[in-house]
Amino acid sequence: MRRFFIEQSKIAGPTIAITGSDAAHIKRVLRMKPGAMIELFDGMGFEYEARIENLTAESVEISIARRFLSASESPVQIIVAQALLKDKKMDTLVRQLTEIGITRLIPFTAMRSVPRPDNKRLAERRKRWERIAIEALKQCGRGHVTEIGETITFNDLIKMDDECDLKIVFWENESKPISDVIQHINDRHYRKILAVLGPEGGFTEKEIEAATACGFVTASLGPRTLRAETATISACAILQYLFGDMGLKKS
Ligand code: SAH
Repeated sequence: MRRFFIEQSKIAGPTIAITGSDAAHIKRVLRMKPGAMIELFDGMGFEYEARIENLTAESVEISIARRFLSASESPVQIIVAQALLKDKKMDTLVRQLTEIGITRLIPFTAMRSVPRPDNKRLAERRKRWERIAIEALKQCGRGHVTEIGETITFNDLIKMDDECDLKIVFWENESKPISDVIQHINDRHYRKILAVLGPEGGFTEKEIEAATACGFVTASLGPRTLRAETATISACAILQYLFGDMGLKKS
């Protein structure tokens, strides 16, 4: 279901008007009609299932069908695309990404990826990662498990059409920090972020060029070259702090 941000103060009365760019998106891009259901989140720990009642020139009128607590789910969906690392590192990463509240992990093969498992092996790994994610979920008290995607190629990854508000490659040769490459720092503008992290050998210039051509921005994680797994955890913590719930008060 489509998710939209709504300020908690707006949730009052039988119908609520969604205005601005979200309303335009619902009407013109998604072409949703009365009766369709959407999901709302308020960034304060509540989620809502809502029905579209009416479309007007300036707004989309909705009614709330259900409200539920999402205390442990982040208001931002962070999808991590991780170049395949050695087995042990991937196992640890799956656990840690689940704890940090990552929505989905997409492993991919980069030009300099060292592990090149065959399909049978990859299917086994995926099952294993799914088990690890569920175990980690129970421990950290999240409501939704980190989805584990199929392993894809770098080319398929950058062409993936996933309607992300921000597509970012953390690149060891970039000098600009994240605050320099995006405009809406520290607001709720970004609801779905795709973060791409490279293999132990780093990205090639060609990969970066191709990603940039597909609308990705590149950002640095500071002056030190981090090991791949350190970089991924750091990047996710930064994103979750800036756009998600790591900087929010615990209820
Ligand atoms: N072998 C490379 C480093 C690769 S580190 C070299 O020596 O230059 C593995 C991945 O971690 C990188 O592809 C990148 O995605 C991320 N990474 C590590 N340090 C980073 C930094 N300072 N800024 C941004 N990304 C970084």
